[in-house]
Amino acid sequence: MDQERLERLVRQHAQTSRLLGVDFVPSYRRSGGEIEAKPAAEPVHAEPEPLPMFSASGTPAAGLADTPEPVTVGVAALSTRGSPAERLDALRARYIADAPHRHFVTDHTSIVFGEGDPEARLMFIGEAPGAEEDRTGRPFVGKAGQLLDKMISAMGLRREQVYIANVLKTRPPNNATPTVDEARVCAPYLFEQIRIVSPEVIVTLGKSASQLLLGVSDSMSSMRGHWAQFPPPDPLIPVGDMPPIPVMPTFHPAYLLRSYTPENRAMVWSDLQRVMERLGLSAG
Ligand code: URA
Repeated sequence: MDQERLERLVRQHAQTSRLLGVDFVPSYRRSGGEIEAKPAAEPVHAEPEPLPMFSASGTPAAGLADTPEPVTVGVAALSTRGSPAERLDALRARYIADAPHRHFVTDHTSIVFGEGDPEARLMFIGEAPGAEEDRTGRPFVGKAGQLLDKMISAMGLRREQVYIANVLKTRPPNNATPTVDEARVCAPYLFEQIRIVSPEVIVTLGKSASQLLLGVSDSMSSMRGHWAQFPPPDPLIPVGDMPPIPVMPTFHPAYLLRSYTPENRAMVWSDLQRVMERLGLSAG
């Protein structure tokens, strides 16, 4: 396809997307033969560096060494019979009964377990519920959630067609980043959710989910845009037997909202396009 036709198609797609309310997709204007990104609508803020969850050796990262031994919670005894919807209901009941969040400080009134198609081809995993999620008991329904909805529709999907979950199921005080212990006690429930839904692709949103699923302490900029797999070759938290699922880490929508630059939007959109390619989806 020649360059001009390609650019026209990209422009048409961006216009259609914006008409559909998909305004996170980067748009471009032509200037002196160069394709140039539009100036940032908002000032750029650096993504705050939360504590890395794991050191390279798999021990809790520096600064967390004095924290108590993480509590391990087994969900292996859960039945593998029943439909994915029934198994997710049983897992939710098990989570409520175990209340792993009682081992740490939370600021919650609801348990935000996860929602969506129990047999979704695509699963999104975020960090933890915020205020709006806590109020409604649903994941990603606040401002970051509205952006996630736009991302999903830009991929040609509806929210009900994907499954959305978080590392933590209860709201941390002041929306703090989950600590290694918090993530560890809650991880078995998330891993079981993944096992039940068994998606073809997982998108991890932000550092907490990406580090937990990939079992590394790498920066978001080095993880994003590169295919990884869950379980990772050398998992830090036992996952059990599970066929590997491709994982695409990308920036968290809350970070994107804080730094809504054409560059960041382009990076997220390119990550999502790689996922669409893998799933054989065409843009919405
Ligand atoms: N941020 C998250 O990581 N998860 C939510 O559910 C909402 C905001």
